[in-house]
Amino acid sequence: MAIHPIVVYGEPVLHRKADPVTEFGDELHTLVADMFETLAASNGVGLAAPQIGVGKQIYVYDADDEVAGVRRRGVFINPVLVASKVPTTNPDPSEDTEGCLSVPALDYPLKRADKVTVTGVDENNQRVSLSVEGWFARIMQHEFDHLQGTLYVDRLDTRWAKRWKKEQKKHGYNVPGNSWLPGTDPDPFGHGQ
Ligand SMILES: [Zn+2]
Repeated sequence: MAIHPIVVYGEPVLHRKADPVTEFGDELHTLVADMFETLAASNGVGLAAPQIGVGKQIYVYDADDEVAGVRRRGVFINPVLVASKVPTTNPDPSEDTEGCLSVPALDYPLKRADKVTVTGVDENNQRVSLSVEGWFARIMQHEFDHLQGTLYVDRLDTRWAKRWKKEQKKHGYNVPGNSWLPGTDPDPFGHGQ
């Protein structure tokens, strides 16, 4: 297994729709194991394949689901997501803040649907399904978005988008070629230190 560098906003693979997985052999198994290892090293809660430069419809997650009172860890390949309505109220910085390993050191508030159901397959091509609420539903929407070529900062409302545009330039997140290596480079969100 290996920890992979995480590519940053501006890298083309993040901004196009990922390809469906068609081969479920050893190569895929290694990739999924590497994604779990990279996720753990990054102190994140979810990681999509495009974030390690692989344009395939795969994401992994590993986090506590506080609504259900359980820890959830798993993989979705070729997923379909059904969500409840996204509230039209303004996002609350104390409740709705989101971050992304591919947008290091920044976070912004964004409204998400409260309930989702995701269905797909795992690395053995076995059907998997998950219905979750609240924060965990946010993780599912965030990771699913990655496979469509959408990052959470692309969804910000006018007010927060303005701030993002400023910070984006300042950090150089508007050009390809940036990445960071979890476990080696300093944690951009100050986690796990
Ligand atoms: Zn992300």
